[in-house]
Amino acid sequence: MAFNLTRRKFLQTASLAAAAVPLSKVVSAETGVAKKASLEAKGTMGDTTVVGGVCEMCFWRCQLTGKIRDGQLMKLEGNPKSIDNGMSICARGNAGVKLLYDVDRLKYPLKNVGKRGEPVWKRISWQEALDECGSKLKAVVDQHGPQGICIFPHGASATYPMHYFEHAVGTTNVSEASFFQCRGIRDTAYVATTGKAPNETVDMANAKVIFLVGSHLGENIHVSHIKGYIKGLQGGAKLVVADPRYSASAAKSDIWVQIKPGTDTAYLLAIMNYLVKNNKYDKEFVAKHTVGFDKFSAAISEWTLDKAAKECDIPAAQIKEVAELLAANAPNVAIHPGRHVSWYGNDFQRERALACLTGLLGAYYVKGGWIDPINAKLGKPGWPKHEHGNEHNLNFVSDKKVYPFSPPGTPTELIRDCAISGKPYPIKGCVVWGQNPMQTIPKQEKMKQVFNAMDFVMCVDVMPTDVTMWADILLPESSYLERHDFIKTGTGKVKADDKEPTQFIAPRMPLVAAMFERKDQVYITNEIAKRMGHEKDIPAQTLEELVDKVLEPAKITLASVKAEGGIHLQPGQSPYGVPDDFKVQLFSDEVAAAGHPGAPTYKAVEGVPAGHARLLYGRAPVHTFNRSQNNVWLNHEMPDNPVWLNDEVAVKLGLKNGDTVGFINSEGVKSRTTTTVKVTPGIRKDCVYMYHGYGSANPLMTAGVGKGVDDQSLITKIAIDPETGCHGMRNNFVKLTKDGKTLDIPA
Ligand code: SF4
Repeated sequence: MAFNLTRRKFLQTASLAAAAVPLSKVVSAETGVAKKASLEAKGTMGDTTVVGGVCEMCFWRCQLTGKIRDGQLMKLEGNPKSIDNGMSICARGNAGVKLLYDVDRLKYPLKNVGKRGEPVWKRISWQEALDECGSKLKAVVDQHGPQGICIFPHGASATYPMHYFEHAVGTTNVSEASFFQCRGIRDTAYVATTGKAPNETVDMANAKVIFLVGSHLGENIHVSHIKGYIKGLQGGAKLVVADPRYSASAAKSDIWVQIKPGTDTAYLLAIMNYLVKNNKYDKEFVAKHTVGFDKFSAAISEWTLDKAAKECDIPAAQIKEVAELLAANAPNVAIHPGRHVSWYGNDFQRERALACLTGLLGAYYVKGGWIDPINAKLGKPGWPKHEHGNEHNLNFVSDKKVYPFSPPGTPTELIRDCAISGKPYPIKGCVVWGQNPMQTIPKQEKMKQVFNAMDFVMCVDVMPTDVTMWADILLPESSYLERHDFIKTGTGKVKADDKEPTQFIAPRMPLVAAMFERKDQVYITNEIAKRMGHEKDIPAQTLEELVDKVLEPAKITLASVKAEGGIHLQPGQSPYGVPDDFKVQLFSDEVAAAGHPGAPTYKAVEGVPAGHARLLYGRAPVHTFNRSQNNVWLNHEMPDNPVWLNDEVAVKLGLKNGDTVGFINSEGVKSRTTTTVKVTPGIRKDCVYMYHGYGSANPLMTAGVGKGVDDQSLITKIAIDPETGCHGMRNNFVKLTKDGKTLDIPA
């Protein structure tokens, strides 16, 4: 059938992605609605090209064009004007067409006339849905105050409503998964160390050494980022990867450090101690741009190679080899700060250690090192911020922060505890916008308790993800291909040999009109705001008006950018050259004053109990967690998440490749579904590994439901990072189950 004809090229794309070369330039498409004719046979993939698309199959926001025929989107490509992703988009980006036309997408406002968690949906009008959302949320505020509302937002479309509830309504009970279960620790650790939040744009393209701790680039794919990584490797950069698993990065590495999970900070401290003790650090940079060197070097002095080797279960000689390699190539070393770093509850200190190591090597603001690209300045119009104080901020007790280096918002666990206990105050209204807390936040039973404690739960989403089963009112949102939205900015080069970089500004524009009754975030939020009594605060009547206000400082408009091909280019500035006032807090008085170790410090994590293996998880190359599980192209490429099991362990358990297994964790929680075994020498014996986001529970996700195992359902033990309040999620231990029997993992 036509699908097979067109899918061939897509398969090439996906397999390239899986092989860590995710730079597809060709892809097939079909309408996904009704038309099933062979598009390739017609010799063209669309009659009209529409510019201005910005991908949101993941957060990276590659710039797109769309091929349109008869009003339908046939194919997505990279925008030829892009100096970011260029013409390349990854497998997920290509498969955006299938999200757009997914038959399971939410189409109309729905009211749950059954029970939360076991919904019975009734289609209602927007008028009725908005009236109910506005009146129920207002009733919560009137009875309990603005703090009676909590919000779990995610994604570009959630920013506007999040700011409405924070700024106009006045709740601080906001928890973003991207902060509290993902990268927030990294951001606040780097801010505490350097005053700058990092992003992934370490200058890998020009590095002599790329240094990764746990980052599995190649499975974790963001186009321009991976292009920089590949360019660096092609240019001869050495790759050092610390990972308990033979990841896509480990497979390309010059040095694979098969480290014991949870001990990364000890490894980093030993490298730094070796550099200091052997005078192999950048003395000039340290003298001019660091603070607290003496206290720092004294604090880490116990971390000899031998001590770290024992703790990390790796050879001392290998740590020395890594340290020597870094020193020999400094300062052109790209110490990657990672992205999802909420691992063990000791993560702030590990991220501090990465930032300090970069400083010891003098690798800030240099070619091949950590850089801070200077992007175009844009406006920040939005909801006027009313003064609400910290009286009801759960992260404050007597004006002192519980978690002093918490990311923006309130740590999730504080919100959940308050919602369930009613102390120190009731939380009775919940807004979930684009996030799927059932699969982003650990302890699913606790999340259910939160929803059951609410007077009202409202969800806004594109797909019927698991959390939507807990909504009272469920609103269908337009997808990223159907709406305007906030803006991707960055820097790049128009020509490879350009001396100076160019800045780009790419506002998201719709490639097709929204179908059915889907609405954008500004419409939905404004209508609720009117019903809650905040009409006078509304900052823009439409999303287009809002985006135009954001663009004002650059003296451009949506219309002018569209005429330019969807991307505005303007002269940029070099990211190299250390600012005089830039300082790296090797020893941070601020961290010490807050009651935490001022120098990066290792805290051992809980060991693996007898009979168990530590559960590790990560990103799949062709999925963005649960968000893409129902996408039929992506689901076809990776329909489930086989569990990686060490080959020697497998022999002892009598398991072979492809056997079907389930799981039971050390707290007695069983997986709802099963998956298959991937037997490999490429993982330590004390761990198992699976891709995150599988095993959807919602039967409305007809392609993704029940496929693979939901790793989050097994993450019931959490370790809270003491500095940030973020969740550490890799302290969970599992046994395998097969045919009703539980299999103890051999020691
Ligand atoms: S990396 Fe892939 S999924 Fe992410 S924005 Fe780019 S094309 Fe889309």
